[in-house]
Amino acid sequence: MPELPEVEVVRAGVEHWVAGRTVDDVAVLHPRSVRRHTAGAEDFSLRLKERSFTAVRRRGKYLWLELDSGDAMLAHLGMSGQLLVQPREHAAERHQRVRIGLGPAERELRFVDQRTFGHLMIDPLVDDTRGGSAGVPAVISHIALDPLDPAFDDDVFSATLRRKRTEIKRALLDQSLISGVGNIYADEALWRARLHWARPTAHLRRPQVSGLLEHLRDVLREALAAGGTSFDSLYVNVNGESGYFERGLKAYGRAGQPCGRCGAAIRREAFMNRSSYSCPGCQRAPRG
Ligand SMILES: [Zn+2]
Repeated sequence: MPELPEVEVVRAGVEHWVAGRTVDDVAVLHPRSVRRHTAGAEDFSLRLKERSFTAVRRRGKYLWLELDSGDAMLAHLGMSGQLLVQPREHAAERHQRVRIGLGPAERELRFVDQRTFGHLMIDPLVDDTRGGSAGVPAVISHIALDPLDPAFDDDVFSATLRRKRTEIKRALLDQSLISGVGNIYADEALWRARLHWARPTAHLRRPQVSGLLEHLRDVLREALAAGGTSFDSLYVNVNGESGYFERGLKAYGRAGQPCGRCGAAIRREAFMNRSSYSCPGCQRAPRG
């Protein structure tokens, strides 16, 4: 499942190819891929045709392509979705679901999605009440800014966190508090900050929260520089290259291997139907 760094890699790649291009042709090849566009596939196509893409933006793992009509095409990649820009004459991908012709370039934007959990929809841009400077698609306007957004407010986040009766990792995965942090990067940032995932947020001190945010930003930026983490062979960036940040992981997926800091064996614990990886030596579990 792509997380923020992977989606950012896609965003930058797609923006390079689509910004300034005008849609001259749209084909929805699988209705499931536009199921959230409730007005239907025909309306989806009509609202794209003859419109130009002005920018490609991201919040957390949500990605949208701004149109000169005041709408945006929102892309949710789900488990296996890919946005590829390819020459028109290039053979169709096996799981190609939507095809968008980009004039005057001899290229098209292709939404490829094997498992069809992802989707595309057209939604109006509204003012961003979460503090961002550009408009945001109405359906995701409740999603908090991500920590790499220049408008992300550390003080507000810290204060909100300490008022909540929750555990730190649950808070990091709560998209109404902070977006773009998935299981992998949460575990990596908590390892760097030496915090156990079950620490109650109400008891965290302000410098601990600041430190955690810095580690989170570092880990996201490092992953971004490496092209994202890719455990899923289905996930590739816009040029078809897989990310390779997984080599740099210190905790996630390393159960039983020695901690790079203290040598204790990394432990795996059940967490929200998934797993949390942490070091028993440097990330002590909270008492009772
Ligand atoms: Zn350790």
